[in-house]
Amino acid sequence: MPRITSHWSRFGTSIFSLMTQAANRYGAVNLAQGFPNFDGPNEIKEAAMAAIKGDFNQYAPSTGLPKLRELLSQRIKKASGIVYSPEHEITVYSGATEALFCAFQAFLRAGDEVITFAPFFDCYPAGAFSTGAKLVEVQLKAPDWTFERKDLDSALTPRTKAILVNTPHNPTGRVFSRQEMQIIADFSKEHDLLVITDEVYEELVYDGKSFTRMSTLEGMRDRTVVISSSAKTFSLTGWKIGYTFASPELTKELRAVHQFTVFCSATPLQAGICAALELPDQYYDELRKDYLLRRDTLCNGLAELGFKFRKPEGTYFVVADYSHMSNLRDTEFALWLTETKKVAVIPTSVFFENPEIVAQRQNYVRFAFCKDLETLRAGLRNLGSKV
Ligand code: PMP
Ligand code: GLN
Repeated sequence: MPRITSHWSRFGTSIFSLMTQAANRYGAVNLAQGFPNFDGPNEIKEAAMAAIKGDFNQYAPSTGLPKLRELLSQRIKKASGIVYSPEHEITVYSGATEALFCAFQAFLRAGDEVITFAPFFDCYPAGAFSTGAKLVEVQLKAPDWTFERKDLDSALTPRTKAILVNTPHNPTGRVFSRQEMQIIADFSKEHDLLVITDEVYEELVYDGKSFTRMSTLEGMRDRTVVISSSAKTFSLTGWKIGYTFASPELTKELRAVHQFTVFCSATPLQAGICAALELPDQYYDELRKDYLLRRDTLCNGLAELGFKFRKPEGTYFVVADYSHMSNLRDTEFALWLTETKKVAVIPTSVFFENPEIVAQRQNYVRFAFCKDLETLRAGLRNLGSKV
């Protein structure tokens, strides 16, 4: 056995893998890991298959297929009004996960601090750790998952370099208001911070709620690295095609890391995502409409069962307080629910690092509603609902 120092195993196995394994073991309805149990449109798959049968099987340019970057530029312009140069400002990655990793590697060094809102997506602490930087958590306040300017001020130190914002937010389903985004923008400008925005749920915003993109606020475009992904928008989480939009200066750094992580993402899948980006606007409207029905089906059922939650304004997750049902800690409750009620969920304390906060946050679990209606109803019936 060679002598090794254990660095990364401190992160253990991802909660998403653990709960999916538990769901399979106990034959439970999997409302834990966020993957749809349906696939995106067939024409996207056909385009990827045609690419494999055709001429798209060797390395793509490290920055991404030119056509894909061009289509991404058109899409973000339509969505936000901002023009990004496909040549200098758009890069394709193996998922938003890789893009986040590249952003951490590109912009943070040992001793730096990056502020983020807790609860947070599980790869954030690992990304910070990979650079020796520290993730400083600003707690979103339950039950509404909001924050105030003073919370950011108290997280600031002379070592703060960046702030990482995920909106629409996993796991709470919050879409930060324009006012909240403006608070973050003002804070970052006052302290000259880089802003990294994780917008992978950008298309999943409900009830006509407007989604404020950080890059559209005054003075923010060139201070912000926008990260997104095809995974949620096109219901193809296994394809792992993500992207960044950032100024040429920031993009140069990101690309330098990306070329030594994976060099380029799977070429035929990039060709498939080109077909996805050529879908008409109606596709996005239908996606939202279908998700709205799934959200309401799950939320109505959970409310009837006595769970307390803020109805998600975006994403495909609901974080619910289960205090009426059990005094178990969330990690134990999630396993108990999976084994005995046959519904797998995610305990939310794993989305915090600060032990004090973890201790206060042990009565919430996350339900995913990226499942067909029959599966959502089956889950609710397992929990005791009459649906
Ligand atoms: N950020 C958030 C908030 C997520 O929920 C996910 C989901 N997987 C990702 C990033 C990663 O996206 P991808 O699957 O494209 O790597
Ligand atoms: N984003 C998905 C979730 O939050 C899972 C991602 C993963 O399994 N790594 O459930």
